[in-house]
Amino acid sequence: MTRVLAADAAGIAEAAVLLREGRLVAFPTETVYGLGAVATDDRAVAQIFAAKERPRFNPLIIHVSDSKAAFRLGCCDDRAHALAAAFWPGPLTLVLPAAANCPVSLLARAGLDTVAVRVPAHPLAQALLAAAGLPVAAPSANRSGHVSPTTAAHVLDDLAGRIDAVLDGGPCPLGVESTVLDLSDESAALLRPGGVTVEAIEAVIGPITPPRQANESAPRSPGRLTSHYAPSLPLRLNALSIAPDEALLAFGPSPPPAALAINLSPKGDLTEAAAQFYAALRALDAEARQRGLTRIAVMPIPARGLGLALADRLRRAAAPRCPSALDGG
Ligand code: AMP
Ligand code: MG
Repeated sequence: MTRVLAADAAGIAEAAVLLREGRLVAFPTETVYGLGAVATDDRAVAQIFAAKERPRFNPLIIHVSDSKAAFRLGCCDDRAHALAAAFWPGPLTLVLPAAANCPVSLLARAGLDTVAVRVPAHPLAQALLAAAGLPVAAPSANRSGHVSPTTAAHVLDDLAGRIDAVLDGGPCPLGVESTVLDLSDESAALLRPGGVTVEAIEAVIGPITPPRQANESAPRSPGRLTSHYAPSLPLRLNALSIAPDEALLAFGPSPPPAALAINLSPKGDLTEAAAQFYAALRALDAEARQRGLTRIAVMPIPARGLGLALADRLRRAAAPRCPSALDGG
């Protein structure tokens, strides 16, 4: 049984107790819902992989309540300090060299000598982390390869019966995952575009290395796997016209006519589109299947700002499905 906990003091306290007992609790962040377990507890972390059916052990993002706590886990330099001051709390994950006495489970770090840390801004995530008083490993709260959840109902769709509780904070305001930036090396490298734009990061630390192309054989970041974030129906990208057997994921003021369509933002606003993105993909997938449609056509979305994160997720969602590649989660 998965309990749904209310977003009040009692719900937060209960969620913190469950976490401290080594149980799995999904909770809202400003990006998507995370599946939390205490990051210093190997058994609890192992249960994350089991619940999500991640076929491989890939590193998890460790959530903490402030930058002081983050920099106890990972070694910070001037770049990390500047980025933390500019974007934490917020949707930026920093991959740092692990501190000498880093207490984070090696399983959560996939045996690496780095650690990915983030200070989420969502008030419920903040309250839960403060109440738990421990770092919390939290990948997105969906089964591996599925669309990321932006409501408690999405979490239950994928994980009901497999996790102990979900803290229901309503829809996630941002709607796409955090930006993952690797600072473990002299050149800062973008591992995953996300909620904080490249433009904003470069304004603070100067030019960064763009993401390496997908289909690398040993990706450093499972979010980089080619097939990921996938709905059940195939996707066709950059569609300007719609076939009769297609549903339409639209963007902007003049979508082509379609029997079934959801518009991410009729006014062409990328922030609004990001917030709707995963919920729209889920809803369209379910409705299209019910109506016997066989594909989702997606209109072009400008690849700037948050559109870069959306373009990245769409490219992966549209990639040929390879079961062994569905391992990011
Ligand atoms: P998710 O599982 O959806 O929360 O995504 C977590 C992202 O952070 C994935 O792309 C991971 O590969 C990345 N990540 C976490 N820890 C590390 C690390 N130590 N080094 C590189 N990437 C990491
Ligand atoms: Mg994920």
